[in-house]
Amino acid sequence: MKALEERILKDGQVRPGHILKVDSFLNHQMDIPFINEIGKEFKRVFADRQVDKILTIEASGIGIACITAQYFGVPVVFAKKAQSINLDGDQYTAKVQSYTHNKTYDVILTKKYLSEGEHVLVIDDFLANGCAARGLIEIIEESGAILEGVGIVIEKGFQEGGKDLRARGINLKSLAIIKSMSDDGLEFEELDY
Ligand code: 5GP
Repeated sequence: MKALEERILKDGQVRPGHILKVDSFLNHQMDIPFINEIGKEFKRVFADRQVDKILTIEASGIGIACITAQYFGVPVVFAKKAQSINLDGDQYTAKVQSYTHNKTYDVILTKKYLSEGEHVLVIDDFLANGCAARGLIEIIEESGAILEGVGIVIEKGFQEGGKDLRARGINLKSLAIIKSMSDDGLEFEELDY
């Protein structure tokens, strides 16, 4: 998505540890008209898929998933990262290694919000090593729901997550894929969708 690449070049900041900060428009302060265009683009690239529900993970994925869901006309369910007294009934859980916080945590979803046979699109802001996406996919597999695709706003293509998911045959579409990233600049991969 050209407008996304341009926005990353304009407002993104490269931080040590291969971290790209985009918190002026995507995952802290949120530019809603811009994220609206991202939602439209997800609808375009997954137009051939049956989507009954969008699954994401708190916190950064939620806003993007909600805007995207309006284009699909479906509900959003988000996995939680901590137990809470508001979570009741049977739950799916999967262990995830956090890239940005360098710790392991459980992702948790109440079973009644993901059912066998439901067609699910996973949406998230970043793909790095793929741990968050793998945790969500594990929950989908456990539930018997059907994974239709994984939509990522920014994939760091020099890390392993994308390669791993594509090798598993997962329909992964990232709206921008960063080929390389350093203080000297960013390079993007060409997309064929
Ligand atoms: P993964 O699980 O694929 O290793 O990492 C994905 C998660 O880590 C994303 O949900 C995102 O919250 C966070 N993350 C990974 N890399 C970056 C980055 O470069 N910048 C930001 N802002 N978040 C990142």
